[in-house]
Amino acid sequence: MKKNITFLLIFLLSVLLQASEVVIWATTDMHGILQSKRGGMAGILSILELKRKPQDILLDAGDLFQGSYIANSTNGSVIVNAFNLMNYDFYVPGNHEFEFGSEVLRKNFEAMNSVILCANWAFVPAISKMKPFCIIERNKMRIAIIGVGERESRNRILPDKKLVFMNEEKSIALALKELRKEKVDLTILVRHGGIYFKGGSLFSLLKKFPEIDLVIGGHSHQLEIGRKIAGAYYVQPGMLAQGVSEIRVKFNDRSRKIERITSFYHNAADFEPSAKMKKLLSMQRKIMKDAYRTIPDALPENVKSKTAAQSYLTLKCAAETAPADAHLFFIEKAEVNWNGRLNKYLIHRFFPYENALVTIPVSSQEYQIMLNEVRRYSDKYKVKFIAKAPRKQYFLLQTTAFVLSGGGANFPESRKIAEQKHKQIKIYPSMRQCVADFLNLK
Ligand SMILES: [Zn+2]
Repeated sequence: MKKNITFLLIFLLSVLLQASEVVIWATTDMHGILQSKRGGMAGILSILELKRKPQDILLDAGDLFQGSYIANSTNGSVIVNAFNLMNYDFYVPGNHEFEFGSEVLRKNFEAMNSVILCANWAFVPAISKMKPFCIIERNKMRIAIIGVGERESRNRILPDKKLVFMNEEKSIALALKELRKEKVDLTILVRHGGIYFKGGSLFSLLKKFPEIDLVIGGHSHQLEIGRKIAGAYYVQPGMLAQGVSEIRVKFNDRSRKIERITSFYHNAADFEPSAKMKKLLSMQRKIMKDAYRTIPDALPENVKSKTAAQSYLTLKCAAETAPADAHLFFIEKAEVNWNGRLNKYLIHRFFPYENALVTIPVSSQEYQIMLNEVRRYSDKYKVKFIAKAPRKQYFLLQTTAFVLSGGGANFPESRKIAEQKHKQIKIYPSMRQCVADFLNLK
């Protein structure tokens, strides 16, 4: 009897002494990879099925449904399905999500089961499940999570009345002002951005906001298992669905203060794909089989190299879809094997972004300004461009949404021209789609 009581006392004491813990699972920049040699969403789901407790928080920091062949060929919808199967609590949008245009973006967001956190941009009219921040309770601890999309989100999409954008710092400050009225024990910032960015660093951002305890970052495709930056703990869960970060936050039960944050990274390649993804993976296999089929007579005899094929397809599809007097295009670096035969997969690698073809009337001065920005960009990122204009004062220019949107912060002057002339911009399908139409592909 006495022994039993001792045991009971030890048990009670250990329960009392046990600190509360909150566990967060995080991914970022999965870019629509369902399964690959280095992991994939299906492997991540297996990890979660094995290790995630019902009260654990699961979130993603963006660049989710663009990038892979299956993602791009289904406008991201298959990846949204996979994401829903994984049961995420929260999602913060990345910059590549804008590529399908604002209407597809809205559709994909509406199909998501998780709460979308984004303080620096919003839809007009608003989507009810999309909010700047939220407060949840886990293990009696109150947790605030603020989401911010990429800093240059505004320059990622053509001028559009369906979206409003705000400065990143202002939006964080506003969210924190609201949060000060609440009593929270842990403040998390989920940010589609890395440690360094144009105009500053995370260190200087966090110096301004000492209330933030934990930052989960993305965008720069780095793996940061866990480290201190300014007063906060920083985690960046890698890229391309290669794994998932597990973050454990321990609290002192009496003071409710954070005692310790620890984090781990689990490699998805170490796990078999989850049975739950079976259907999506077999769908992917079918889609890929079709993608590797050679398209007969797609290219003329004299087109020999990858770049020649890319320029040929670019100019042909633009001329067929949207005739104009001038053009300004990028040729993406495509690191793929090329045996001179074209297939749908190669078209996707030649045109990796959902970049809409556009036309805009410009003066020769405006064209020169745009050309200079494109030239600077192509030097910096080692990408080729093709440009041609007639010796006229005014002409119609073919280019892409990427250039007119501002290309992040790379083409501010081109963006300004696009804003002034937004009513005269004609938007066509993506370059990839135009190529597919030109080649009569289904
Ligand atoms: Zn990104």
